[in-house]
Amino acid sequence: MDSELLREQGHIMVDFIADYYKNLQDSPQDFPVLSQVQPGYLRDMLPDSAPERPESLKELLDDVSKKIMPGITHWQSPSYFAYYASSTSVAGFLGEMLNAGLSVVGFTWLTSPAATELEIIVLDWLAKLLQLPDHFLSTGNGGGVIQGTGCEAVLVVVLAARDRILKKVGKTLLPQLVVYGSDQTHSSFRKACLIGGIHEENIRLLKTDSSTNYGMPPESLEEAISHDLAKGFIPFFICATVGTTSSAAVDPLVPLGNIAKKYGIWLHVDAAYAGNACICPEYRKFIDGIENADSFNMNAHKWLFANQTCSPLWVKDRYSLIDALKTNPEYLEFKVSKKDTVVNYKDWQISLSRRFRSLKLWMVLRLYGSENLRNFIRDHVNLAKHFEDYVAQDPSFEVVTTRYFSLVCFRLAPVDGDEDQCNERNRELLAAVNSTGKIFISHTALSGKFVLRFAVGAPLTEEKHVTEAWQIIQKHASKFTRNDHY
Ligand code: PLP
Repeated sequence: MDSELLREQGHIMVDFIADYYKNLQDSPQDFPVLSQVQPGYLRDMLPDSAPERPESLKELLDDVSKKIMPGITHWQSPSYFAYYASSTSVAGFLGEMLNAGLSVVGFTWLTSPAATELEIIVLDWLAKLLQLPDHFLSTGNGGGVIQGTGCEAVLVVVLAARDRILKKVGKTLLPQLVVYGSDQTHSSFRKACLIGGIHEENIRLLKTDSSTNYGMPPESLEEAISHDLAKGFIPFFICATVGTTSSAAVDPLVPLGNIAKKYGIWLHVDAAYAGNACICPEYRKFIDGIENADSFNMNAHKWLFANQTCSPLWVKDRYSLIDALKTNPEYLEFKVSKKDTVVNYKDWQISLSRRFRSLKLWMVLRLYGSENLRNFIRDHVNLAKHFEDYVAQDPSFEVVTTRYFSLVCFRLAPVDGDEDQCNERNRELLAAVNSTGKIFISHTALSGKFVLRFAVGAPLTEEKHVTEAWQIIQKHASKFTRNDHY
């Protein structure tokens, strides 16, 4: 790493990225939000093998502009409304830059004490902002760890809960273990269970519907547990979600927590998206009942301006996690680790090597301050409300679910009750608006309905982008509606 070359080329790269953000706003026509390339487009544009001799940064950046950019879906465009956002910020970017520069590997405390200690402190800060119970803080038996993604978070807690119960009942009873989620639980839950050796037929995904706004019905959970117990199964894990992937539904944590407590089942709360909103007092109610949870995670890269990737996870009992995941090869031993006086994050995650992710979270929290972060989230929710008002005022459309956060689920309304035709029209509408390259929205299915999703969360989005998006949707819907709006 030549420091002078870094200085020179680093400036060029920062300028390139800053121009990208500027152009995304000033020349949106040059950046189709959803990439319009065909599969395999890049192979024809790049050589078959790596160059023998060095090329210049200029040549490379020209290729980024001409060859890579067409294949980029612009998650940072102000007109990006698909899935959930990947929120970036200057502070998050600078944190990533510092992380890349230092490039430390904090798998044990010794390998970079600051990396471990900052992570502990910053996750305690964030836990306090979320008003998590004290047992999730590092000062108690619990603590926080930054996982790469939400998928990794659910995997490690499934493994911890599995080993905790097997220690009690004996390893041979693995085939009897059962887990519970809902049909809205993120697909990573099923994957985590399968990786953890849970039999596929023992994964109970309870049915939800519009009567609970797609939240998990606690009665169904208790019924399923009683039924399983009567048949000799061993219920050991419940995955509740606050802000489901499809529709941002909320599972009712208070009754679910009471059930988990009654039967001694590990309760995990996946708040990947909506957990971020819970730093605002008005949204904190959605995690009321968290006191009875064993673990909780949220993705700061979704809605807390922390850039990809950053998924804080808190556990009530860190030793469950460590018991399941620790490895102690001689080459990683060091004096203080033997006394269990320090945290070695290698024992809280799957991989050994790990990034210094707390740096960027620390920088986001410090350079913006909690008050601004709350206001950014509130702004997004207000923009979603604005969009929802447009939908509600147009009789050709309908809002499909009750909105709690910054996601609006909507669709062209059925004509004469014809659901099949309605699904087809919404599918066509989705393809039409996304093929414009002007906006990107996504879809889901709820109770057999093909539903459009409009998720606000890109940091550059303003009211004018929401209004433009609605006009584009209305324009393309006009072919299906009696009153042409244009
Ligand atoms: N859980 C929920 C509720 C999600 O919405 C998502 C992603 O959208 C995930 C988990 C997976 O998160 P990640 O992509 O960070 O693995």
